[in-house]
Amino acid sequence: MRVVIVGAAGRMGCAIREALDQGSGIQLVGAIDREADASRGISTDLESALRGADVMIDFSSPSSTATNLAACARHGVAALVGTTGLGDEAERAASEASARIPVLIAANTSLGVTLLTELVRQAAAALPADFDIEITEGHHRHKKDAPSGTALALGRAAAEGRGQTLDAVRAATREGESPRKPGEIGFSVIRAGDLVGDHLVLFAGEGERVTLGHQATDRAIFARGALRAARWLAGRAPGRYQMVDVIGLKTRI
Ligand code: NAD
Repeated sequence: MRVVIVGAAGRMGCAIREALDQGSGIQLVGAIDREADASRGISTDLESALRGADVMIDFSSPSSTATNLAACARHGVAALVGTTGLGDEAERAASEASARIPVLIAANTSLGVTLLTELVRQAAAALPADFDIEITEGHHRHKKDAPSGTALALGRAAAEGRGQTLDAVRAATREGESPRKPGEIGFSVIRAGDLVGDHLVLFAGEGERVTLGHQATDRAIFARGALRAARWLAGRAPGRYQMVDVIGLKTRI
């Protein structure tokens, strides 16, 4: 299998290149970033790189996600997007591209978080509606978006478990006088040091609490999960897929 990495000079790009080098059997046919760097084999020419590729793995910035997805669709290359903080334009581009290629957008490619997301969906469905749901996340001091894409995905799973949408139940930022509204899902954010990624989902009732969580200590988990997803995605029918499809666990809710 042949992959192109977009964001190849970044933290995740480097982690994916390292994982590729560890006997993955996957061939790197293009390393793309904003600025070319011949010494590291990095170019800015995505179109040329896609000509010989099976899958694009994009961990860059939301600014070019829509363009990159359209390029993948033109070249018949499957797209795995790990970039977070995506907006409506990227979502529309993903829908359009998925008519021609397999597309998987994952705010978190760790297998542990994929499992956590499904456990949260089940817990939200099983526990009574008077259990308050609060999500706390912590990341390194350089992270740009907040709450993290993973925290929002956990919030969506919890809302869906209750038959709702996150938009309908997401709590406003709490400052000053802001008592909890029944049924809302709240988010708290920590940005500090070199935290790789902590997520905790609290279900708090009267007299008992359930906490489900995940701590990432090594960026390599996202890289390994991304390569597993890329391998799974190559050659699939056009359409939208999720990490939960990759681990073969789909909750019936
Ligand atoms: P980073 O800043 O270290 O690297 C991003 C790289 O992308 C940089 O080299 C930058 O020059 C490049 N880039 C930015 N815009 C580009 C463009 N338009 N075209 C080509 N290259 C471009 O960031 P990072 O920590 O590697 O994270 C990258 C993205 O992946 C972020 O959105 C982050 O939130 C996300 N992320 C996702 C997961 C996951 O599991 N899905 C895990 C970690 C990080």
